[in-house]
Parts: sequence; structure tokens; C-alpha cells
Amino acid sequence: MKIHEYQAKEILRKYGVPVPQGEMATTLDGADTAAKALFDAGANGVVIKAQIHAGGRGKGGGVKVAKTLADAAKYSKDILGMQLVTHQTGPHGQKVQRLLVEEASAIDRELYLGIVLDRAAGRLVFMASQAGGMEIEEVAAKTPDAIYKEYIDPAVGFQAYQARKLAFKLGLKPEQIGEAVKFMSGLYKAFVETDASLFEINPFITTKDGKLFALDCKINFDDNAMFRHKDLKELRDVAEEDPLEVEASKYSLNYIKLDGNIACMVNGAGLAMATMDIIQYAGGSAANFLDVGGGANQQQIENAFEILLSDKNVKAIFINIFGGILRVDVLATAVVAAAKKLNVTLPIVLRLEGTNVEEGRKILAESGLKFEVGATMKDAADLAVAAAKGGK
Ligand code: GDP
Ligand code: MN
Repeated sequence: MKIHEYQAKEILRKYGVPVPQGEMATTLDGADTAAKALFDAGANGVVIKAQIHAGGRGKGGGVKVAKTLADAAKYSKDILGMQLVTHQTGPHGQKVQRLLVEEASAIDRELYLGIVLDRAAGRLVFMASQAGGMEIEEVAAKTPDAIYKEYIDPAVGFQAYQARKLAFKLGLKPEQIGEAVKFMSGLYKAFVETDASLFEINPFITTKDGKLFALDCKINFDDNAMFRHKDLKELRDVAEEDPLEVEASKYSLNYIKLDGNIACMVNGAGLAMATMDIIQYAGGSAANFLDVGGGANQQQIENAFEILLSDKNVKAIFINIFGGILRVDVLATAVVAAAKKLNVTLPIVLRLEGTNVEEGRKILAESGLKFEVGATMKDAADLAVAAAKGGK
């Protein structure tokens, strides 16, 4: 689960990690009030920041520093409601519905801090770089040595000596090292206690007067741990998510929308990945990833069908099921019922194997509906690709 920058900064604040003063606003009036309060409190400038679940906002025109209240009002007007396009939003961009109005910082250096799970190492890794700011992806790709790493032993956690090592590599001044250690230790504690999967502070800045701040903050949480964080779950902003994915999550369906035109319904994530591969191999492209789960029932299959059909790009449906816990006859009954109920007119291609496969095939054949059944996964993929090409 992703959250907004202003929410992430609230979390950091609770863990004693310094972030600039600021307030979230959803209206121009609200933004103006927030900016005025910051100027009244002595700010030299304010930053108007688009709040969307994507990075690269600065380059896209979604982050602007204002020296006066009038400029702040102008930038808020420019940014609120804009369709912000960044390298992470896709070509259509994301509509800005919230602003963060923040006290501007006098930046000395822009550095980088991050914590992620390194799956190969099976450990969290704390990363730091002097090359913070808006080009960190390029740094990682071209000069990976400019990113310093400390692997964290889960038995003892992130140690102060590791923070000191990173702080020295960042070239911080001697009098800043102690603050930096506190800063990094606070980040690590927040990461672990919130069950996060990613923390990125880019930039992590030093100011002209020597202070340290998290100027930007991106946090992702581990969805599988959200059941034990009711407070964090409330930070979810569904306006930032794909509407079909939001709908699917209501039914505990594992659905991710893609750009192709062959809708896939599969049980098991591995088989779902293989299905997308074989569609590609057969010359087509998948409209989605969908894992209905090992124990899907009729209701879930109906819901899944409904979600697949709401995608206007879809020209054919490919159902690839290996019957285990979900028996093939149960699946076939559900598919027939759903296809009848929802009046599905798109071609449906199936590949069925596993428990009660004969009964399943019989149910399809006797349904009075038109299904195509492939003998193998490749045959079925070929049929689905042909159906999508010739389909209405
Ligand atoms: P991102 O582009 O989505 O990563 O947004 P950031 O929050 O990282 O902001 C982008 C850039 O705007 C930063 O790298 C800074 O260079 C600049 N910026 C953000 N806040 C301030 C500020 O308070 N003062 C100044 N001078 N620049 C800022
Ligand atoms: Mn940033």
C-alpha cells in the first residue's frame, strides 16, 4: 500500500525524524490559509507540492517554491487539479487532488536515504548516497558504487555504528554525525514498526545553517501486514488507485490491470504469470493479471468475471485453471453461471486440467454456451490470441 508524502512525513515526525513544517490542503482557500500561517510564523518562502502516489513530481511541474503569498496562491492554482505527468504516472498522468504547503528550506546539500528489503540477501538494507535529488534512478543505473549500503542483521537490528559509517560516507560535518545517527535510527524504527516495504528520503537535506531534514518521503507498506495496522490502513487514498483494482481488492481478488486485450482468469500466482508469458509468446497481450486464489467459490468467479468485463479493451477471455483445491467441475459450473448471468458475448477460451476435469468439460459442453477449450496451455493461448484478433 502506498501513501502520500504528507502522511509519510506525519509518521516520521512521530518517530522524531525532522521534517519541515507544513499542512495538507484540498482547496485553494485551505492552501492559502496554510501558506499565510507559515509566512506569519516567519517562513522565508513556502513550497507548494502536488500530492500524488508517484515520484518525479518536481520535473513534471508539481513542486514549486514561492517567495511571496501571492506566488504561493498562483502556484497552488496551477498545481491543484492539474493532470500531473511524471515518469511514474504513465502518459495520462494523475489528477492532483491534494497539496502539501510546506515551509521552504534553504538547501545546502541534497542527499539520499532509503530502506528496502533485499530479497536476495534476505535482509533489510539501509542505503545512502551523496547524489540525492531528482536523478537518483540514473545514479543507481550508471554509478551504483555511489550508493552506500549497510545490511541489517534482523537479530540485532540497525546499529549506531552502521549509521555512523553511512553518515561519514555522506560527507556530513563532524557536528552533524550525531544528528544523522538519530535521524537514521528513527527511520529504521519507523520502518520496522509500521511493517513498511520501502522508505525513501530523497532528498535528505542539510540546510545552510547545518540542520538535517527529510525534504521528501515515500513510504510503501507491506499489504500482508496491514491487518495489524488499522490506523495505517486509513491512510489509503483509493482516488490514487486504478478503479478496477480497488473493486477487485474488495473481493480479495489479486488483480492488476495491464494494457493488452486478452483478459486472464487463473488460479495461482505462478500459473497467472506463466499465462501472461504464454499469451505474449503466442503473439497476444494480456489485459490483466488475475489470481482468483486456490479456493475460489462461485461468487468470486462471478465477481472476477464482472471486473474482467468492465475493462473496455478486452476482446477475449482466457481461463486457465489447474484444478486442485478448486475442482474443475466447480469452476466450470461457476463459469457457466457467471457467463449466463452477465450475458457474456466475448469469446471465452479455457484450458482446464486437474481434479474432475472430465466432469468440468462435460458441464461446459452441455451448457448451451460457446466455449473453446484448448488441449494444452499453448493451444489455448493460440485460440485466445486468434479470438482476440478476430473478435468483436
Ligand atoms: P519529487 O520530484 O516528486 O521527488 O519531489 P521532491 O519533494 O523531492 O522535490 C523535488 C525537488 O524540489 C527537490 O529535489 C528540491 O530540489 C526541490 N525542493 C523541494 N522542496 C524545496 C524547498 O523547501 N526549498 C528548495 N529550495 N527546494 C525545494
Ligand atoms: Mn523526491
